[in-house]
Order: sequence, then structure tokens, then C-alpha cells
Amino acid sequence: MTAGLYASRARIDHILIEKGAPGGQVLTTDWVDNYPGFPDGISGFDLMDKMTAQAKRFDVNILTKEAASLDLADPDLKKIIFDDGSVVTCDSLILCTGASPNKLGIPGEAELAGKGVSYCGTCDAPFYRNMHVAVIGGGDTAVEEADYLTRFASKVTLIHRRDELRATKILQEMAFENKKIEYIWNSRVTAIEGNHEVERIQLIDNDGTTSTLEVQGVFVLIGITPNNDILPVELLGGDKWGFIETDAETRTAIPGVFAAGDIRSKLMRQVVNACGEGANAVIAADHYLKTRSED
Ligand code: NAP
Repeated sequence: MTAGLYASRARIDHILIEKGAPGGQVLTTDWVDNYPGFPDGISGFDLMDKMTAQAKRFDVNILTKEAASLDLADPDLKKIIFDDGSVVTCDSLILCTGASPNKLGIPGEAELAGKGVSYCGTCDAPFYRNMHVAVIGGGDTAVEEADYLTRFASKVTLIHRRDELRATKILQEMAFENKKIEYIWNSRVTAIEGNHEVERIQLIDNDGTTSTLEVQGVFVLIGITPNNDILPVELLGGDKWGFIETDAETRTAIPGVFAAGDIRSKLMRQVVNACGEGANAVIAADHYLKTRSED
């Protein structure tokens, strides 16, 4: 939405292609407390509604349609192809397809998402002040966020399906020193339960023994998947997980193609840096178009 806003304000002939309601993943984020300018916080839906309204005030041109594939073979004419055979062509393309948190796919997870089930510790930790929360996963994200959560939660129980963490050793050392983190090893969560909000989780260990743990929050931190189905990841310069590498100006390996937001290979995936990158990508694309036409 920020790229759309900047493109329309710069009077660039543009089209913003969106398969659903404008706003993406944030639309389904219950509450956003870390986006500047909203001292009392704002619901994800309202934040994106405001961003859309702001972009529309400057006549952003939105096409609601799901792109099926890209043809980036012609350096001068990038093509976005749709299932009905129609094609949008452009001189420059900004990819903002985002990423999706991996889900456990267990009963209660979808029903209680935003009501105690979270996929982002950095975003939601302050909602769990003095509460007991569970973190699922054993990678860098789970361990780092478990440590961060202890700034607010009274206790964090990290549940991992194996008997050792995947996270880098230095993060493990930090977590093991943190007395507010407890561990349940060799176990999986089989259900998340609660009446309107998370109250408890059901567990099973690798020997088949079941147990119940009372928690008020469940942080599912088992990796994220880039939304790259239609992207030529290798040509664009993807990292080993399929996110797109760019330079500081959001340029990918293909001239005239830029990437912004969660699809970029980077450390932090939040609304605040997605917005900055969206603005940056438009300025970089404008610069590309101007210097190309001067050549
Ligand atoms: P990750 O490294 O893929 O770890 C995912 C964790 O979730 C693993 O421990 C995995 O268990 C577990 N898991 C996966 N599916 C599961 C399931 N269905 N049920 C239960 N557990 C499941 O993901 P990540 O931690 O998000 O990190 C992604 C990449 O970003 C990594 O390369 C990481 O190094 C990097 N990262 C770096 C930093 C940093 O440098 N500060 C911070 C965050 C992330 P197993 O171990 O058994 O497979």
C-alpha cells in the first residue's frame, strides 16, 4: 500500500495488483501496538483500511486479480500473466508478495488466532504481561522470541519436538541462562483450547504420554514461508529459503525489478519496515525508469 501511495503521489503510471482485499496479512492481525503514530495501538484491519484510504485519496490504481505467473525474460517489458490469459505489462516491477507463518494445523489454532495464538513475539509480547505463555519451535526465532517474551510474561515454556534446539549456540546460551524460560522436550502440541481465549494446550511426548499445560498465550514460531510461488526466485537472486535478496535500494538481480516487505531476505519482518521498503522501492524504480530513458 505504501508503494502504491508513493507511486500515485509521484504521478507514475502504475497499477497495484492485489488478489484479495488490499492490506495483506496485517488485515488479520488483531492489534498493532508498534506502528508509530498510533499511541493507543490500532487493529490491523483499521490500520490497513486507513492505508488503503490514504492511497485511494491519491488515486492509486488497484486491480483486484490473482497473478498466475511472471515473464521477466524481456528486459524492457515485464509481464504479469493471469489465469484468464490477460497480461499486464510494465517497465518496472515491485514485488511485495509477503510471507506466511507456518502453521501447526491443529484444532483450536485457527479459531483462537489473535485470541492468544500468535505468530509474532516481537509484535504481541506486551499483551502477555505477567502471564504464562508457550512458545512452539526450537529455531532462532523461537528462542530469540522466547527470551524477548520474558520481558513481559511471568513464565515462558518453550516446547520443542526434539531433545535439542536448532537455534544457534549463542542464542541457546542466552535462553538457558534466562530463568523465566522452562522447556518441554520431545513433545508436540496436539490442540489449543479455551473459551474465546487460549486457556490451555494439550501435549503428547514422543513416548505417547499426554498432558495438559495451562497457558494464556501460544506463540507458534516454527518458521515462515515466502510467498514466492509465481516468482523466478533463482533469477531474482533468492536466498536459500526462497526469500529475495536485494541491495539497500531494494533492487533484485533483475534490472527494473524491486522487492519490498516480507518477501525480502532480511532480519525483521514488520509493518514499519515493509512501509519504508515500499516507499524506497518506488523511488528506486522511478530512478531506474528515468536513467533508462536517458540512456
Ligand atoms: P527454522 O530455523 O526453520 O526453525 C523452525 C523450528 O520449528 C525448528 O526447531 C523445527 O523443529 C520447528 N518446527 C518446524 N515445524 C514444526 C512443527 N510442525 N511442529 C513443531 N515444531 C516444528 O525457522 P526460524 O527459527 O524461523 O528461522 C528461520 C531462519 O531465519 C533461520 O535460518 C534462522 O537462523 C534465521 N533467523 C536468524 C535470526 C538471527 O540471526 N538473530 C533470528 C531469527 C531467525 P526441528 O528443529 O525439529 O526441525
